[in-house]
Amino acid sequence: MRISLPKLKKKAEHHEPHRYEDGMLFVDCRKCEGTSSLGDAGCVKCVSSGIIDSGPPARLMMRKECDVEHSENVISVLVEISKISSLTHTASIERPAGKCNDCSVSISSNAKNIWDSFPEPRFDIMRLEAERSKPDKDGCEECMWRTIGFIDQLETMFFDLRKNAAKKAFRLTEV
Ligand SMILES: [Zn+2]
Ligand SMILES: [Zn+2]
Repeated sequence: MRISLPKLKKKAEHHEPHRYEDGMLFVDCRKCEGTSSLGDAGCVKCVSSGIIDSGPPARLMMRKECDVEHSENVISVLVEISKISSLTHTASIERPAGKCNDCSVSISSNAKNIWDSFPEPRFDIMRLEAERSKPDKDGCEECMWRTIGFIDQLETMFFDLRKNAAKKAFRLTEV
């Protein structure tokens, strides 16, 4: 039997979007805009930021009006999604030394778009835009090639993710 200690008032009032306890990740969607379901891309992002903070959980509980626990299969798909999230986030803030990092075709300028447009990133359009950029005017050629490589990498990750999600009957569409 667990005894829960009374929390400090300040802490109790503070809204925690997610909490990790004994292998269980609780994602609290009572205050987010989303529906707290996995058909909601916004709430998939709520879960993914929880996984980034706590690491892959053994169990997952999403809360809104009622609590819903998700299966291991679903957790494995969400863990993959959180990897994509943290990769794009890192890429959007990373400034590798000795490289151009701020022109419009740089990886850092494009990485955020990929995650923001989850679950349907338009890789084809992003690739075309990078390819069509004019060196010197829109950005430099070195960034263009690095960005195209990054887009290819992410597109492969999304492809694998969709395959895995479909196998586990996880719908990856926006509703
Ligand atoms: Zn949510
Ligand atoms: Zn550049």
